[in-house]
Amino acid sequence: MIETDDITESVVSSIAQMKEISTSFRKQNLTTGFVPTMGCLHEGHLTLVRNSLQTCDRTVVSIFVNPTQFGPNEDLDTYPRELKNDIEKLEALGVDAIFFPDIKEMYPAGHNTTVQVQGITQYLCGKSRPELFKGVTTVVLKLFNIVRPDHAFFGEKDWQQLAVIEAMVQDLNLDVVINRVAIVREPDGLALSSRNKYLSPDERQTALSLSRSLQEAQSEIRRGTTSAEIIIRSMRNLFLDQKGVQVDYIFICDPESFKEKEQIRGRTLIALAVKVGPSRLIDNCIVEEF
Ligand code: AMP
Repeated sequence: MIETDDITESVVSSIAQMKEISTSFRKQNLTTGFVPTMGCLHEGHLTLVRNSLQTCDRTVVSIFVNPTQFGPNEDLDTYPRELKNDIEKLEALGVDAIFFPDIKEMYPAGHNTTVQVQGITQYLCGKSRPELFKGVTTVVLKLFNIVRPDHAFFGEKDWQQLAVIEAMVQDLNLDVVINRVAIVREPDGLALSSRNKYLSPDERQTALSLSRSLQEAQSEIRRGTTSAEIIIRSMRNLFLDQKGVQVDYIFICDPESFKEKEQIRGRTLIALAVKVGPSRLIDNCIVEEF
């Protein structure tokens, strides 16, 4: 529930006002960096924001839990919302505007246009969550048109999302530079995620298996294993007998085309999605084996 008291001056809720702000930045020849988020901000998000602050004259962060990227049985209703905290964190960093539209502002009655990248969206998360990337590209293109950034910042934790956005930017000739930011992790290796909030202490411990399985895969590859099947089997073994855990996918592929690899040679993406208790968590790493 969002209290109106939470809203401060840097928060912009209307598209018209956000467009006015971005137009004024342009008129002053100031470059704009943009960080789209769904809120519940952690150090991963804040690292993207710091990158934008360093790269651009002005930084806009959006907070919008985008309903169109959630499937019918997913966690849209329970997705963590912490607007007051988020605003405090962003204001402390010195962002210039926080775009926080409501659902009707973004999707008024009669909204009937979607943007969809073909091909790479059929693998990994696109396979398990068929609504995801169409929702992501549609909302990100809308946000780009509203904020009109010179640079946008996305995290490599969502490796496939980044590739899908880069494909959209290239295919639709958008004038925005996409900046990749490395995964930010807890000291014990767990990739930061808003969905970590749902985890009980036991589940938090279990969730460590995602990053551990990637570390062990990397060690096994360094020791000379090249078979993707063997690596995937060892990774899967780590999740066996863990209570409340369901592996969605463990996939080894080319990091750009997402074509599955049988042999780990050249630059390779290892990605996984695992449901731990109520949270569907993702993680990935790149290995370079020549
Ligand atoms: P979200 O709010 O989950 O939609 O994420 C907003 C942006 O933050 C996306 O570009 C994510 O890839 C990025 N992000 C989320 N978690 C991390 C992380 N642990 N490290 C780096 N970037 C992240």
